[in-house]
Amino acid sequence: MTAEMGEKDHSDVRWNPDLRQWYCAKCGLTSDHVAEQDAVAAMAAFDCTLHGTNVVKLGEKERLLRAHYLTKQKKQNE
Ligand SMILES: [Zn+2]
Repeated sequence: MTAEMGEKDHSDVRWNPDLRQWYCAKCGLTSDHVAEQDAVAAMAAFDCTLHGTNVVKLGEKERLLRAHYLTKQKKQNE
């Protein structure tokens, strides 16, 4: 009975310090709300289901691009 109840609930929401956004480790959904409760509320509008590997790939690509950008910024400041 309770097995299906948790499907909509993003129960593994974590903070990504690199992108400065909240994301659900279960389905890959992200939110750019700063406050965790706002992010969870925004995510609640979507089902916690895997949307395919595109989400994960995009996140990884973004992370690498941002890391590259930050490195560049640091060099300019030196
Ligand atoms: Zn989720």
